[in-house]
Amino acid sequence: MEENGKTKEEILAFLKKAKAADTNYERVLSSMCTYPHEIAVLAHTQFIESNMGDPGLFPGTFDLERQVLVMFGKMLHHKNCPEKAGYLTTGGTESNIQAIRSMKNFRHDIPKPNIIIARSAHFSFDKVANLSGIEIRKASLDNLLKVDLDSVRSLIDENTIGLVGIAGTTEFGQLDPIDELSELAIEKNIFLHVDAAFGGFVIPFMDLDYSYDFKLEGVTSMTIDPHKMALSTIPSGGLLFKEPEYFECLEIHTPYLSVNKQYSLTGTRSGGAVASTYAVMKHLGRKGYKKVVSDCMSVTKKLVEGADKLGIGTVIDPVLNIVALDVPEADLVRKKLLDEHGWHVSITRDPRALRIVIMPHIKNETIELFLKDLAKAVK
Ligand code: PLP
Repeated sequence: MEENGKTKEEILAFLKKAKAADTNYERVLSSMCTYPHEIAVLAHTQFIESNMGDPGLFPGTFDLERQVLVMFGKMLHHKNCPEKAGYLTTGGTESNIQAIRSMKNFRHDIPKPNIIIARSAHFSFDKVANLSGIEIRKASLDNLLKVDLDSVRSLIDENTIGLVGIAGTTEFGQLDPIDELSELAIEKNIFLHVDAAFGGFVIPFMDLDYSYDFKLEGVTSMTIDPHKMALSTIPSGGLLFKEPEYFECLEIHTPYLSVNKQYSLTGTRSGGAVASTYAVMKHLGRKGYKKVVSDCMSVTKKLVEGADKLGIGTVIDPVLNIVALDVPEADLVRKKLLDEHGWHVSITRDPRALRIVIMPHIKNETIELFLKDLAKAVK
């Protein structure tokens, strides 16, 4: 730090330069984040100093959080006091870590616990393994890239405390058979965490014949991320447990705060993200989110049809607004798309394919431009 501070004008000029160096989302087809809704930004800035790590000082924000949990509860068919059974995290990673931490704390009678996740699970579960020492067993996938139930079953032993199912995999947007995982969890008397970080704000707004939430008896916790498809601000994540007691076993004593218990992984926590999530959910309502999702799905269809005309298929028929294009030499095509045309796409691990997430900032015109450049890049 320099001895003398800079003027406001100098700082703003520097920030402008830094912002200009950032990528705007116009050609970003690889991210699960997008521009937040205007009302989310307004709400976030109004609550910028609010710290949910010390909620006794911010009862107004705390109440907004309870109201968001009630809205989550309705969306996810929760039956038992959602406002007492979760909190707003900093995103999918924290939610997943905390869900597994709760399983571990609840089953403290098992000295060397393991959990079973799909090979397609988000890398946040590798952080869980590293942090907690819990063994993470990875089940294989079937030919549609859903978790294979026989594989899950074969990995369960007397030290297994829980299963994880994914409702919207990060790479392919595939939906695991949560209903069957739920049956298995009930049969084995173990937990079932559903990672719906992405799908949680997509699936409820589509006409899909798919059960994945607390309607299923075996589901004991869920991750759902407002900063992805809900158009809230970063960092807004959500974690909801079936029973308040699963949430309560995350309790830590906090001697010098305005309340004497804390359940979150982080200490200081953004009240801005709470307010922004409340604002955007109340503002858009079910109708608004249906439109967001249906627009994304219609752009997804346009991409798939356009790619098909170029002779490019998809690894699976897209279920959500995530497309994996099956192009030969995907890594090379990705590089050309970026270096020659400025498109950001990502690559799936297995099989290697071009991964495209159709977030709300991607419009039909974007896809028309992209397809023209894709045609050149695959030549
Ligand atoms: N779970 C799933 C299914 C995801 O797709 C992601 C992110 O892409 C996460 C968890 C992690 O979310 P975050 O990056 O907000 O921590």
